[in-house]
Amino acid sequence: MSQNDLSIIVPVHNEKETIPLFVKALSNVELPVKKNILFVDDGSTDNSLEIIKKEQKKSADIHYISFSRNFGKEGALLAGLKASINYKYVSVMDVDLQDPPELLPIMLNKIKNDHVDMVVARRSNRKDEPVIRSFFSNSFYWFINKISNTKLVSGERDFRLMKNNVVRAIVSLSENQRFSKGIFAWVGFRRSYISYQNKDRIAGKSSWSFIDLFKYAMDGIVSFSTFPLTIITIIGIFCFFLSILAAIVVVARFFMGIPSAFGWASMITIILFFSGVQLLSIGVLGRYIASTYLESKKRPNYIVREKDIE
Ligand code: UDP
Ligand code: MG
Repeated sequence: MSQNDLSIIVPVHNEKETIPLFVKALSNVELPVKKNILFVDDGSTDNSLEIIKKEQKKSADIHYISFSRNFGKEGALLAGLKASINYKYVSVMDVDLQDPPELLPIMLNKIKNDHVDMVVARRSNRKDEPVIRSFFSNSFYWFINKISNTKLVSGERDFRLMKNNVVRAIVSLSENQRFSKGIFAWVGFRRSYISYQNKDRIAGKSSWSFIDLFKYAMDGIVSFSTFPLTIITIIGIFCFFLSILAAIVVVARFFMGIPSAFGWASMITIILFFSGVQLLSIGVLGRYIASTYLESKKRPNYIVREKDIE
């Protein structure tokens, strides 16, 4: 492993169709440095690992780490970054060719000449994406940027090229609940962007469902802000003053001789409303407690079943 090397980390989960296409596309790109492709097989249940091994026979610059089961892309990224800590440059790419390999030489050029530590690919459009998904995605970025000190950029991909110092910083964070989009932003460093047109995956299908994405967004918010806890405190204070106001109204009605024992419908509405507020607040609190609980177990982010590198 020379100091000039570039490690390309590629998380893989059930991608038997895309792996050969990815290797081919990457081999067509002229790079100014010596590269290594590190596939992290995230517990694929198809024969992705066998296909990686077949590709490995054809070219010496392919390596792999394979997990004992599916741990999620976050675990795969961490394993890849840890294994690449001695490389001068490290890149993270999806195997489905949604991250165009042609950008790599441009990124390398930028990182050398612009005095930045990280070059990030940013998609310039969200066409081809369902409107509802764009809406939720944009709302998520708006909300998290309002409430968190860690600023996330909409459209920023995991696809990026980093210098060694950035990789070391990311790996040094010991948290178990990893939200990479936030961690990439949190570590700071100088960065520049490359915009490109959004592409469809070349083959296979995405492993992410809408529910997965929703949970991912929730985890991101809990990981990078405690402001939701402040929001429920504010709601609590507001309700407290509302109850004082209601008490004044009831007492005033008594002295004015207006009977107060009516209004079943309004009573039910109020009870339902405040039960809702309470359950919501408990839910928000619960997310933070769950996060603390999971963190305190200190379980590893992944378990390696086999690998061909140190
Ligand atoms: N991936 C993974 N583990 C998972 C799900 C996905 O390693 O549990 C990999 C997948 O093989 C791909 C990348 O993460 O290389 C992005 O996944 P996908 O294309 O499904 O996500 P999308 O592009 O829709 O965000
Ligand atoms: Mg994809």
